[in-house]
Amino acid sequence: MPPETPSLSRSVEDYLKAIYSLSETGEPASTSSIAQILDIQPASVSGMIKRLAEWGFVEHAPYRGVKLTATGTREALRIIRRHRVLETYLSQRLGYSWDDVHEEAERLEHAASDELIDRMAAAMENPRHDPHGAPIPSSSGEVEVRNHPTLAEVAAGERARIRAVRDEDPERLRYMEARGLMPGVILVLEARAPFSGPITIRVGGDEGTLQTIGFDLARRIWVSIGEESAQE
Ligand SMILES: [Zn+2]
Repeated sequence: MPPETPSLSRSVEDYLKAIYSLSETGEPASTSSIAQILDIQPASVSGMIKRLAEWGFVEHAPYRGVKLTATGTREALRIIRRHRVLETYLSQRLGYSWDDVHEEAERLEHAASDELIDRMAAAMENPRHDPHGAPIPSSSGEVEVRNHPTLAEVAAGERARIRAVRDEDPERLRYMEARGLMPGVILVLEARAPFSGPITIRVGGDEGTLQTIGFDLARRIWVSIGEESAQE
């Protein structure tokens, strides 16, 4: 642990979050993939990785870049909890739309104390998911494991329920909302074009409206399929 930082610096928190999100998608947390998420030059990543390793937050994983240690994971989940509780509070209590909360939470997550976050969560009766469907880690660091497929993986004829969507692009969120593509909504996959082509879905179940969406958008929507999709 860096002795001089009882609360971690903003950039350390962003690194831990980025490495955690890569581990969630199963992608190797390489210098270049971390640089891409943080929108910085790969050259500046190496130095920070070295420090994170010295502080015991990450370790090198052969052929996979770095991975979080138990301490690193705990810190990453702390910051992710702050982010997701803030998003939920802004949306539920302050009337923010779901495309507006991410940027605000990105800023506030570094300033809010765990105490404030716990009180916000308690005031909302400890919600389990943020407005985009992502699970909110508990204050003791437990988090629902996400291994849902994306809509891009659903076969024609199958029913699916939207579980979560990627949260960082406001324009994409507005586009999805306008088409009813939000967590909880049932979809029926009507047809899919080959070679990663467009996907035709019925939004809202069997009587729902027919819509065609791009493969790239479908990859950013997590769903549960079949039996499991019936469960709330
Ligand atoms: Zn967010």
